[in-house]
Amino acid sequence: MDHTKINLIVRLQHLDNQIENIESLQKGLPEEIEALREDITFITRQIEAREKISEEYRKTRERLNKTIENCKAKIKSFKDKQTLARNNKEYDALSKQIEYEEKEIAQAEIQLQDISHNEEKAEELQDQGRQLIAENRYDEISEDMMPNDVLAQQLDDLKKQAKQKQEELESIVVETSGAVSTLKEKITVQRKIVEAEAKRLLSKYDHLKNGNIQNAVVKLHRHACSGCNTRVPTNRHTLIVQGGFYLCESCGRIVVHEKLFEEAASENN
Ligand SMILES: [Zn+2]
Repeated sequence: MDHTKINLIVRLQHLDNQIENIESLQKGLPEEIEALREDITFITRQIEAREKISEEYRKTRERLNKTIENCKAKIKSFKDKQTLARNNKEYDALSKQIEYEEKEIAQAEIQLQDISHNEEKAEELQDQGRQLIAENRYDEISEDMMPNDVLAQQLDDLKKQAKQKQEELESIVVETSGAVSTLKEKITVQRKIVEAEAKRLLSKYDHLKNGNIQNAVVKLHRHACSGCNTRVPTNRHTLIVQGGFYLCESCGRIVVHEKLFEEAASENN
């Protein structure tokens, strides 16, 4: 058996492992940041929806108050005219106009009351939420119950957390970018060598990697494949010890003696 070929693929695995180790330093951070951003979007939408509603209330209220003011002004002028009415017919016509304006005022007032009522209801829900928070009964709080100030505080906290994690991630990326690009260059070179010298092993290696097995080449550990812990038949041990390889029957990984990894490590450093 040609042992050089297996050495080449072990070296490739060793380089890939190093990149993997560097990336594991940031493991979880990109996912955590993503999750925080989703929460931020969710709460921001909630706050915006509430702001939109109160803005609508404010505008409607303004419009209704103006209507009432106009109606009152009209009523006043109609009443002034009534004092000058020359006959009953004129007087009654003005009375009808006054009545109409009074109805307009009543309608506007009902709408104003509806708004106040809705606002009170929202306040009550938030008070309920505040009470539940005080009692630590978070799972009973509905979206509407979340108090405005608590939402704002949550948003603020989430933004701070996301910013901190982002900075942490960026500093890791900056610190490791040099090492990563050096390793990537080495990997490119090594892949070319393996491609030329041990094409079949490389396609086996890539096949495993594409199947999401990052450690395609593993050490023999306690007479077993260290990828899946399946025992390696005794009659294959000698071959492995001599520097050969064994394809695990269970997981398909390439099993080699640990000294090959040691050799690959000393070659790289
Ligand atoms: Zn295995």
